[in-house]
Amino acid sequence: MPPLFTKRLTCPACTLLCDDVDVSALEAVDCPKAQSFFQIEVAKDFVHHVDGKPAGLESSIQAAVELLQHSRAPLVCGLENLTTQSQQVAWKIAERSRATLDTTMTNGGRGSIFSLQRTGKVTATLGEMANRSDVIVCWFCDPVKTHPRLLERLSKPGVSNRRILVIDDSDTSKASRLGEHVYVERENAAAVLAILRALLVGIQIESDRILETTGLELSQLESLLDVITSAKYGSIIYGQLQGNSAFDLVTDSLALLIRELNDKTRFVGMKLRTDLNAQSAENVLAWSSGYPFAVNFSRKYPRFNWLEYSAETVLSRGECDAVLLATGVDWQSSVSGLSQAAREQLETIPTVAISPVGNCPADISIQVGIPALSQTGEYCRNDDVSMPLRSVQKPEATTAESVLGAILTAIS
Ligand code: SF4
Repeated sequence: MPPLFTKRLTCPACTLLCDDVDVSALEAVDCPKAQSFFQIEVAKDFVHHVDGKPAGLESSIQAAVELLQHSRAPLVCGLENLTTQSQQVAWKIAERSRATLDTTMTNGGRGSIFSLQRTGKVTATLGEMANRSDVIVCWFCDPVKTHPRLLERLSKPGVSNRRILVIDDSDTSKASRLGEHVYVERENAAAVLAILRALLVGIQIESDRILETTGLELSQLESLLDVITSAKYGSIIYGQLQGNSAFDLVTDSLALLIRELNDKTRFVGMKLRTDLNAQSAENVLAWSSGYPFAVNFSRKYPRFNWLEYSAETVLSRGECDAVLLATGVDWQSSVSGLSQAAREQLETIPTVAISPVGNCPADISIQVGIPALSQTGEYCRNDDVSMPLRSVQKPEATTAESVLGAILTAIS
């Protein structure tokens, strides 16, 4: 099928959503992730299955509707890499069917949201960071690997004296080649942040104690703080270190450091997210139910209790009897973050998969278009700016949004 658009396409392969991709000269795009994404072959004919047998779209949707109607405790989950519009329909299905709804398939990676609830956050758009930052700190993240064009996006023509500090525990990360590298052991990260916060407000700490808890000399931390506080405007780009999102002390401590740095100069922070468009799903849920993820509608009103209603928790505890997984990736990638217990439970209950990849190992598998390749819609950029996606090909009629919409109409 000839392409509909070839230029100025928005790339959804990472959360930066670069909007200048030209697929007619893909080799010139300086990003391996974008090159792989735009070379994905879009299926010509979609395949749908019910109980392992080929089925038409309508009968597959009807089977999914019946499954939801007969379920006492359904789980609606996935939502990564779906357009904002599809995510909006998914939460309405969850509300109508009194389901549990979650935005990703792991309990990890949500530290910044719990931290936002506890401490707030000081942040900015990518444009503001690019225009104003004279110091950029990469804290335990490797943007070259995960977001290949981030530093290009943050660079400003004509500005060459910007300092980039890379703080992590890897000498081999590609990011460590971008600027001055400070080696910090992962287990010492919280201590380093605590000492930086103490030094910032002039608290004296014995140098032996600092060396023991951080692995760094007092002079190293003082010069690090000097670089940070000498910035007129600084940006800290960070990754999540701790697996337990609910008690992520490092992210809390980093959020507090960023806030306290604003007593001396201007500093902002931004978590470098890798869960594709889950941020949009969190916004949809927060605006509609009041909670960003892991919401339970079994009592007809939304309930949230940290990770009690997350997909991982509900599955591993056997607290759901049917699953509707709507995702923009394949089944295996979507469920790969689940624990063994959660995956075992997934195999014992009826499942519906709505995915761009056909033949998902689910009782009902419905194949749909791929956002940006054969579907339009909106995505949320890493800095919370919504962006429209154009479609390379003429958009498909069968999309996650249309299938979810048909299910919603049938159960309403
Ligand atoms: S940096 Fe991310 S959004 Fe930009 S072109 Fe590469 S993969 Fe796409």
